[in-house]
Amino acid sequence: MKGVAILGSTGSVGASTLDVISRHREALKVVALTARSNDARLFEQCIAHRPEVVALEDRTAATRLAERLKAAGIATQVLRGAGALEEVARLPQADMVMAAIVGAAGLLPTLAAAQAGKRLLLANKEALVMSGSLLIEAVRASGAELIPIDSEHNAIFQCLPHTSVAGRKPAGLRRILLTASGGPFLGTPAEKLCSVTPAEACAHPNWDMGRKISVDSATLMNKGLELIEACWLFGVTPDDVQVVVHPQSVVHSMVEYVDGSVLAQLGNPDMRTPISHALSWPERWESGVESLDIVGLGRLTFQEPDLARFPCLRLAQQAARAGGTLPAILNAANEAAVESFLCGHLNFTSIPVVIEGVLNCVGAMPVRNLESVLAADHAARQAAAKLISRLEGATPDPVAGALA
Ligand code: NDP
Ligand code: MG
Repeated sequence: MKGVAILGSTGSVGASTLDVISRHREALKVVALTARSNDARLFEQCIAHRPEVVALEDRTAATRLAERLKAAGIATQVLRGAGALEEVARLPQADMVMAAIVGAAGLLPTLAAAQAGKRLLLANKEALVMSGSLLIEAVRASGAELIPIDSEHNAIFQCLPHTSVAGRKPAGLRRILLTASGGPFLGTPAEKLCSVTPAEACAHPNWDMGRKISVDSATLMNKGLELIEACWLFGVTPDDVQVVVHPQSVVHSMVEYVDGSVLAQLGNPDMRTPISHALSWPERWESGVESLDIVGLGRLTFQEPDLARFPCLRLAQQAARAGGTLPAILNAANEAAVESFLCGHLNFTSIPVVIEGVLNCVGAMPVRNLESVLAADHAARQAAAKLISRLEGATPDPVAGALA
């Protein structure tokens, strides 16, 4: 029996993880769950899974949950505050930690799980983008197991030799073909992009995901973050990774070896496949995902990404090449711009303008320690706030760069 802690259990990846675990109650036990403020959802999850511990970042929500649990006669312990998430990540009862908090908020608990030597199921790509060298070093030092949950990286992991080591390029690997769905605006003309709404941006054609990653998918920043994620996970350079738009989201990524062999992992677009793979690895367990109807699909297509309409991917490629704290700066600027877009304050096409403006004005440094990463994140958010307040309601031309 293995104990599993889920950081971000009330989100999309968290819910899929609980779905897979509920199919394997003889082998897996939920020991801890966490959320930011959604105590109502967490209460339902406590009824269904009876964790020993839960943690909420929001203290008022934590008090509400503690009262409801007591009234229901459930003995789950309720922790509160940001520090409680790290405590959960280190719990001795947790053999595996699912890192499924969205954004930079996931960095410290994800690092804590790596330092504690857990099997780390990594969905929180932002943690790796911000502090890849620190996270990989923590995994090596503690002997933790790092299994990617992001569908593309899980696909790549499945196509690599079992003996591969996190952060080290496997022998014989020539390049990685990182597939991208292209998002909901794949065929949208450039002049229409400035007026797309948050609801349209979050209506992903193939995947049902949280709002932040859905917008990242629509701007192609998600693929940019994933490029950086792939470089850290598999010890490759940005030039070793080719982004390929594949609108059907059936080939989750491919690996090319020096002999010309290309291995791919295919499946329906359902996060329960990578989650189940990571929970059961090196075995294979039932995940609830239906068989792939390859004949019904008929054809799979591949094309180049359009960097003129989707400049976020170009900006991420630049940050990936530059390294140091620039990916953390890119990530923070993106988080701020996406949040402002989701609140209706910023146009869709202003997102890359804010990010480019921040990249140009916040100086990057080598990543020496966690403090340098957190300082870069803070400086980038301050710069982004200024640019966002100047841009609110404006319709800049992302190609010309209205803020240049
Ligand atoms: P959701 O927005 O659906 O869920 C986010 C979770 O994180 C919720 O449990 C939320 O709690 C919690 N959370 C948010 N902010 C904080 C905070 N400040 N402190 C503590 N907890 C917080 O996100 P997704 O599940 O879509 O994505 C999670 C991660 O997985 C992201 O990094 C994403 O990039 C990655 N990922 C997701 C995929 C998907 O299919 N969804 C695919 C590949 C990667 P609350 O509900 O209380 O707000
Ligand atoms: Mg992905």
